[in-house]
Amino acid sequence: MSDVLVVGGGIVGLLSALELTQRQRSVVVIDAPDAFPPASWAGGGILTPLFSWRYSDAMTRLAVDALPRFERLLKRLDPCGDSSRTLLNRGGVWVSAREKEIDEALAWAERWQVAAERRSAGSLMTDFNAEAGVFFPAQGNIRNPGLLKLLRHELQRRGVRFEFAHVVDVQRCSKGVQVCAKDGRRWLSSQVLLSSGVGMQSLLEKLGVSLPLFPAKGEMLLYKLEPGQVPAVMLTEEGYLIPRNDGAVLVGSTLRKGDASFYPTVQGRYRLEAIAKALWPSLSRYKPSFHWAGVRPGCERDFPFLGPLPGLQGVFAAAGHYRNGLVSAPASAELLAQMMCGDVPFTDPDVYSVPASSRSNSSFFNR
Ligand SMILES: Cc1cc2nc3c(=O)[nH]c(=O)nc-3n(C[C@H](O)[C@H](O)[C@H](O)COP(=O)(O)OP(=O)(O)OC[C@H]3O[C@@H](n4cnc5c(N)ncnc54)[C@H](O)[C@@H]3O)c2cc1C
Repeated sequence: MSDVLVVGGGIVGLLSALELTQRQRSVVVIDAPDAFPPASWAGGGILTPLFSWRYSDAMTRLAVDALPRFERLLKRLDPCGDSSRTLLNRGGVWVSAREKEIDEALAWAERWQVAAERRSAGSLMTDFNAEAGVFFPAQGNIRNPGLLKLLRHELQRRGVRFEFAHVVDVQRCSKGVQVCAKDGRRWLSSQVLLSSGVGMQSLLEKLGVSLPLFPAKGEMLLYKLEPGQVPAVMLTEEGYLIPRNDGAVLVGSTLRKGDASFYPTVQGRYRLEAIAKALWPSLSRYKPSFHWAGVRPGCERDFPFLGPLPGLQGVFAAAGHYRNGLVSAPASAELLAQMMCGDVPFTDPDVYSVPASSRSNSSFFNR
């Protein structure tokens, strides 16, 4: 029997598992053996919420120091290697904004002590089709698939066991919490963390908990270019470019609320090619090398639910990271581990809690 079962091996589950092992907890990660990759593999890895000043303080608190958090994490995961150089792009984030919003963005940056400057797109990239905006020089992006591979490797090195199964139920019993899989297997533990991304909604419903969650499909394109052509993440209302350190440029993204399908579509590809051409006409000379889709764990509020499930002792949830699961995962995982281990939390956990009112009457809790 492990101390903690983590259900879901996306970025939130894996980083939480790491935080828990650092607190001497034994952990088993149970991940669905689906053919489609989770959102954490499909995402763009921009290390700031899009138009960050429009978000609540609760979201900003989880995201504002993402880059230094990832720097520390990569040093820990690969102290002698060059992962920090290859996976982390520190080129900054440029965001298109109208004059009035630029003032708002600069005020937000000052309040949160984020480096920011009024800067035109042309001063960074001559042929980018946007004008005024704000540049955040101390932000960047992470190559998420590489990060996830490193994380899995590190967790296995720390003795974390990975099980591949589709979890369908969680039950409280006299010895702890029991997790049940579709194939009939069961695991027992003192604590369980449910961090199953877009799979949270059905799992929580089974437990009689109703949260305002929804799937939101997104598609992306990748172009292989020579390094240095796109200096920073370039973000507009229409879409964005994300430069990787090896020269690859990602174009994103589409957003279809309510769509939980994982396959890329012809319409998605046309839309992304149109975004690419509109933002940076030179890109139309190239053919994209990859096109993929993922499903974001959407949420009606702009920050995730993190914390114990009311009435179900020992069970914790991480739900609704939506468009910001990569940027906020290190802080979310730290907060979850602090709550689960009884440590002093780095920020007020009540803000993120799952409300007692989310429990339905005919629920698991009355079984
Ligand atoms: C196109 C796109 C672009 C994005 N860009 C960015 C970005 O630039 N920056 C950013 O911060 N975020 C971005 N995101 C959002 C980010 O990817 C997600 O918020 C984040 O990955 C969510 O992580 P998660 O661990 O909660 O869920 P997931 O990564 O979905 O992981 C959940 C895991 O749980 C497993 N699972 C599900 N159900 C069950 C079950 N019943 N039993 C067992 N296992 C189960 C799944 O197989 C999966 O492995 C983007 C997303 C998409 C799709």
